[in-house]
Amino acid sequence: MEEKQKLICDKCKVEMVELEVEFSYLNRSFRHKVPRCPECGQVHISEKLASGRMSDVEKNLEEK
Ligand SMILES: [Zn+2]
Repeated sequence: MEEKQKLICDKCKVEMVELEVEFSYLNRSFRHKVPRCPECGQVHISEKLASGRMSDVEKNLEEK
């Protein structure tokens, strides 16, 4: 599921660009595209994304 949402950095007032970053959770890492400010490098991770991906990882662990 992709969210096409334009986000503006509060600090720099510039449009955030999507960047693939690596997350670590429960000793596992996964990649996800998140909006990132090209000026200050701040990434925006919505609660929905965080909780959604986290539960995905937990699900994967249970299946193994
Ligand atoms: Zn910024």
